[in-house]
Amino acid sequence: MGESGRIVIVGGGILGTMHAVLARRRGLAVTHLEREPDGRGASVRNFGLIWVSGRRTGAELALAVRARELWEAIAADAPGTGFRPAGSLTIASSEAELAVLREAVELPDAKQRETEVLDPAGVREVNPALNGEFLGGLWSRADAIAEPRRALPALRASLTRGGPGYEWRPGHEAVELAPGGVRDQFGQWHRGDLVVLCTGANYTGIAGPHLAATGALASAPESGGAGLRRVRLQMLQTAPFPGRLTTSVADGDSLRYYPAYDVPALASLPPQTAVAAANRAQLLLVQRLDGSLTIGDTHEYDEPFGFDVTEEAYDHLLARAAALLGTALPRVRRRWAGVYSEVTGTTDLYHRSSVMPGVVLVTGPGGRGMTCSPAIAEETFQ
Ligand SMILES: Cc1cc2nc3c(=O)[nH]c(=O)nc-3n(C[C@H](O)[C@H](O)[C@H](O)COP(=O)(O)OP(=O)(O)OC[C@H]3O[C@@H](n4cnc5c(N)ncnc54)[C@H](O)[C@@H]3O)c2cc1C
Repeated sequence: MGESGRIVIVGGGILGTMHAVLARRRGLAVTHLEREPDGRGASVRNFGLIWVSGRRTGAELALAVRARELWEAIAADAPGTGFRPAGSLTIASSEAELAVLREAVELPDAKQRETEVLDPAGVREVNPALNGEFLGGLWSRADAIAEPRRALPALRASLTRGGPGYEWRPGHEAVELAPGGVRDQFGQWHRGDLVVLCTGANYTGIAGPHLAATGALASAPESGGAGLRRVRLQMLQTAPFPGRLTTSVADGDSLRYYPAYDVPALASLPPQTAVAAANRAQLLLVQRLDGSLTIGDTHEYDEPFGFDVTEEAYDHLLARAAALLGTALPRVRRRWAGVYSEVTGTTDLYHRSSVMPGVVLVTGPGGRGMTCSPAIAEETFQ
């Protein structure tokens, strides 16, 4: 593939869109297919957290740090993404949580995470909206925020401004593959030096036969539980909050979900509350540019997933958010669920496989996909 080839990308989520951005940076022409009028999958349903702080030491942290660097550079040409280097605060409400934060900040790579443990006054100095009761927090300056509902169109607009080499084809579903080509539902073939399938958590359809034939799904008997699986999360968004949150916020339950906190003190955390444990909940809280609060999340692993959202998890998350902010929350305006694709049972950070000559499938970044997408795209082209 030279500097003047053509890439066909299937999937208009953040992974497909970042592949388009990185391809254009290499001077490659791009045809970009999306079956919906716009991205509708995990990429528009997430928090927009560009999250470096919680990443596992080694390859995962390196990928997130590189991605954070790329996000900042890419967003400079696409300010509509809402990218802002806001940092985050992970709040400790008990001595046991504080002990985990204190050990995490001593990790040899803490410098890359730009972390520091603050007492309650220090937390409020960084983020005065946190008026609740807590014992301290981990300030992570490397973390950033983007706007999930705006990022995809903003990135595409910057690609379109960049010249005629970018073709966006919404409403086009890829239904058949051939080496270096895909056919859409209208029968038209789109050909390139490389086809990149970024079809998200869709394990049937165009990627389905390949995933089944290679035993790539964790549910395949021959996989031994290692491979791709899907995870469903519940989220909500409030009306605008009158205060201003200067950082994103996580609660102590997040220490159980992010591998950076796999330090000796983690074993001394008491069990989560019954509701949090049943829903594998952690509080993440991000203020959107319009002042509203995105609040989540839960984790559901067993398929078939429910088609509806359950209220008890929301009650728990809203109570946690109100406790940290020390005030009542605005009314909830939206509730939704999202599904992402993740690799499990392996040290891989995501899944990339050759489907046939000139066709590659990239999926499975899990809960780090919004963060890592530009670095994953860079690795595809490397
Ligand atoms: C609730 C939630 C919160 C999250 N929070 C964060 C976060 O804050 N930070 C973070 O780093 N990550 C987060 N994640 C993870 C992140 O959102 C995902 O890893 C990422 O969005 C995956 O991007 P994607 O492009 O692979 O998938 P998607 O966004 O799902 O995009 C796939 C696209 O492919 C299209 N498609 C599928 N098949 C075809 C076909 N045959 N032809 C044409 N188009 C097709 C679909 O319509 C879809 O638009 C979160 C995920 C969820 C669900």
